[in-house]
Amino acid sequence: MNTRTDGIVIAIDGPSGAGKSTIARLLAERLGYIQIDTGAMYRAAALLLSRAEINLDNLAAVEQFCQNIDIRLESDSGKQVVCANGIDVTDQIRTPEMSLLTSRTSTLRPVREALLKSQQQMGRRGGVVLEGRDIGTVVFPDAEMKFYLSATVEERARRRCEELTCKGEKVTLDGTIADVVERDRQDSERDIAPLRQADDAIAVDSSRLSIEEVLTIMVTMCRNKIEAMEPLP
Ligand code: C5P
Repeated sequence: MNTRTDGIVIAIDGPSGAGKSTIARLLAERLGYIQIDTGAMYRAAALLLSRAEINLDNLAAVEQFCQNIDIRLESDSGKQVVCANGIDVTDQIRTPEMSLLTSRTSTLRPVREALLKSQQQMGRRGGVVLEGRDIGTVVFPDAEMKFYLSATVEERARRRCEELTCKGEKVTLDGTIADVVERDRQDSERDIAPLRQADDAIAVDSSRLSIEEVLTIMVTMCRNKIEAMEPLP
């Protein structure tokens, strides 16, 4: 039975800082789709685990804890709000420390299993743009449209550094490059659902492209796909 009553599933995977969140938000806006930032969900889970002081080496404890976590992505006047167990954690999950911790906690099977289920549930009707590391390979291997968005390490670190400096964080470019390299390593070398380009994903390198240029490429491809899938009158 076709469960895609609201449109197609669009997967955007790629390393940190490639522009996935911005592009996913704008793409969803243009198509009238819902954006699902799965990285924000992994960040919220990491924050909950750290606040509860769960020992990450004790997988049974992690599993038990994850059975009772409730992570929601809500929208407040167009701004995405991340709620973890009923508390707004939108800003707290975006620090460099949380980025590195998330890279670690997202290697844990119980964390991935808990979030995988809710992501599949959220996207199953279609009409969604999901961004992450394993959307096209694990969460929705049958997604109708898959993109792998990347950029050079230097460019991704430069963007990240700019973003954090704007938020008042004290960061250096060298430190940010080191963080980006470390997160890439953890994300792509882990055993479960590592970051990798799905065989049928379209690769887009955003290093030398503006947001608008990347968006134009992706909107055009998605619209063509949506039109091709709509039944003829
Ligand atoms: O996309 P973002 O940088 O916010 O993701 C934070 C971290 O969450 C990533 O570095 C990665 O370790 C993890 N993640 C994941 N699978 C996803 C999305 C994010 O493992 N689908």
